[in-house]
Amino acid sequence: MPDFCAAYGCSNRLSLKTRAHGITFHQFPKTGEMRRQWELPLRRDGVVAADRTLLCSEHSSSKAGSNKKHHHL
Ligand SMILES: [Zn+2]
Repeated sequence: MPDFCAAYGCSNRLSLKTRAHGITFHQFPKTGEMRRQWELPLRRDGVVAADRTLLCSEHSSSKAGSNKKHHHL
């Protein structure tokens, strides 16, 4: 399985290049609520997150969590 971000429109792949940009990759969490949030950026018909599906740091929960802090900016 290639190590690439599963988010719609994202072409980030696990490589030295993305690592140099500080982009990290994360596997889908197995727990329900976190996993549901991670599935939002996929936005692909018929795509179901597998246990080995990866999201890059631009699309993973770190970004979803930051949305809650907008009023602090
Ligand atoms: Zn991505």
